[in-house]
Amino acid sequence: MSTTVKAYGAVNATDPLVPLTIERRDVGPHDVLIDIDYAGICHSDIHTIRGDWGPIAYPQVVGHEIVGRIAQIGSAVTKHRVGDTVGVGCQSNSCHVCAQCLQGHDQYCLAGNTQTYGSVDPADGTITQGGYSQTVVTNEDYVLVIPAGLDPAKAAPLLCAGITTYSPLKHWNAGPGVRVGVVGLGGLGHMGVKLAVALGAEVTVLSRGTKKKADALAFGATRYVDTTDADALRELRGGLDLIVNTVSAGLDIATYLGLLDVDGALVNVGAPAEPFTVPAFSLIPARRTLAGSTTGGIPEIQEMLEFCAAHGIHPETELIGVDQINDAWERVVSADVRYRFVIDTETFA
Ligand code: NAP
Ligand code: ZN
Repeated sequence: MSTTVKAYGAVNATDPLVPLTIERRDVGPHDVLIDIDYAGICHSDIHTIRGDWGPIAYPQVVGHEIVGRIAQIGSAVTKHRVGDTVGVGCQSNSCHVCAQCLQGHDQYCLAGNTQTYGSVDPADGTITQGGYSQTVVTNEDYVLVIPAGLDPAKAAPLLCAGITTYSPLKHWNAGPGVRVGVVGLGGLGHMGVKLAVALGAEVTVLSRGTKKKADALAFGATRYVDTTDADALRELRGGLDLIVNTVSAGLDIATYLGLLDVDGALVNVGAPAEPFTVPAFSLIPARRTLAGSTTGGIPEIQEMLEFCAAHGIHPETELIGVDQINDAWERVVSADVRYRFVIDTETFA
């Protein structure tokens, strides 16, 4: 016997999202039932529904930046208690036994992990439905503890935007003496800036125009480059050690590779539908690396949450009701978000 809850989702690739009811499975021995309080809006939600990454099945509810309180736990649950404030991010399950899972890298599960939305749920064979809804049932191993020092309404975006930038910054050793560039100042980008600054790196923001310059400097960047200004980009050539590209659209990646010093790396986390064109000579003459990265494993997400609580880092958010989701999506697509929309799920009532 499953439970029916209210949600907001898509019935096809093109129309606005609509109110829906969806089924949540019964709480199994290792599951927790979470009453969702907040759900962030990630650009990946939009790519997914609009079919940018290929066809999907509808109806589909998205949302993988989920924060709420535990309402029920399964008989064998040991990690969480009823009433705890917790989060769910992009992964809701994985094989537990492959070489990557054993290292806590469930985001790179060799068997393919279960995404919080749009995956086949190993528990019951249905398609997983995301956080734009009232509740979610998740295996306890994929549930994060929200530290007491974090405001739950602001914690939700950390579960994707936060970890997706934290993980590559840590992996590529962002820290004192490292010149980090963040391309695109949206949900991911602004978290990338705040996290890189907190890690001690020297941060340059690369964004179109000058509208976001004051914000970039307020977030701790020491330099701002308008990417529509060819001269400013030329001046930065060879001046960065690590670039995190968060742009949701196609990009002239060769120009950005040219900003790297010898041995520099450009880590792409943006996921546009269009492929990049990478000339051989944008890499060869300076032994540069072009890499990619996705989210982070459950242990690293927990580490990132503790890091944010300890350093007082939180995203800039705009809290909205469910009836504003379609407007918010339009504003995300037009890069008019400062800097993450969070849905207050109380407005389902
Ligand atoms: P977002 O808030 O919409 O930010 C994207 C930014 O990209 C915008 O703020 C804008 O920055 C820039 N941009 C947008 N359209 C552009 C265009 N046509 N040309 C140049 N720049 C443009 O999106 P997000 O939620 O941060 O997500 C960013 C990307 O990362 C998406 O593709 C998303 O799917 C992907 N993502 C990947 C992972 C992963 O695991 N790798 C996880 C989450 C998200 P400026 O206005 O500053 O120029
Ligand atoms: Zn996301």
